[in-house]
Amino acid sequence: MTITLITGANKGIGFETAKQLLDLGHTVYIGARDVERGEKAAAELGARFVQLDVTDDTSVTDALATIDSAEGRLDVLVNNAGVLGDGPMDGPNALRVFDTNAVGIVRVTEAALPLLRKSSNPTVVTVSSSMGSFWAVTNPERPEYNLPVALYSASKAAATMLTIQYAKSQPGITFNAIEPGATATDMTAAYGIGRPVEESAKTVVRLATLGPDGPTGTFTDEFGPLSW
Ligand code: NAP
Repeated sequence: MTITLITGANKGIGFETAKQLLDLGHTVYIGARDVERGEKAAAELGARFVQLDVTDDTSVTDALATIDSAEGRLDVLVNNAGVLGDGPMDGPNALRVFDTNAVGIVRVTEAALPLLRKSSNPTVVTVSSSMGSFWAVTNPERPEYNLPVALYSASKAAATMLTIQYAKSQPGITFNAIEPGATATDMTAAYGIGRPVEESAKTVVRLATLGPDGPTGTFTDEFGPLSW
């Protein structure tokens, strides 16, 4: 049985990824910051629930301790929780966006590493974004060129870089960052863009189900490697 934790899985891409991995037989822990929303999502899917706010150290360590007690290991971690942060361009909003989208990855990954090391095929997928690609945001041919979400872009560049650095420092664990594709979720509702979550979650699932010889340190979308 594969033990999987997905952060921010009470809705959107995380929720659909949980659904698809459950269908593949994983034991899935839905990480959610809100107990009511998380328990409801877990009950709907037949998943397990852990309270997990990626901006709260105690919440993160408690969540991983709960999984350790119940399972003794973690096979797959999906760093999915994220915010668009389309508020003011100021210090408090920047701290909030970076705390969630970048620092949260450090908190969760550090707490998960001891459990991942007990797995025979430890795998980490970071749901990053092509908005964090210097190549994409400087290319007038790409949709990212015209989207003015500076804090989100910068925090996702950090998320991708953290993934690559973890891949280098943790050679026994597979770390890959992905762009799931523009997806119709609450995050993108104001822009009215995106395809159904079912399509985008497939990209997450593909990277979450790599064998031990799978690639590590990559940044890809459904079509293959993405430029940084
Ligand atoms: P979404 O529907 O808004 O879901 C975001 C999830 O993150 C929610 O479950 C939310 O929980 C959770 N979250 C936010 N802050 C959190 C925190 N501090 N601790 C724990 N969970 C937290 O958006 P989505 O589109 O599915 O986004 C999922 C991931 O895909 C994000 O990392 C996003 O950047 C990335 N992505 C999305 C797109 C797209 O087109 N949608 C494209 C590229 C990348 P609450 O319900 O409590 O707010």
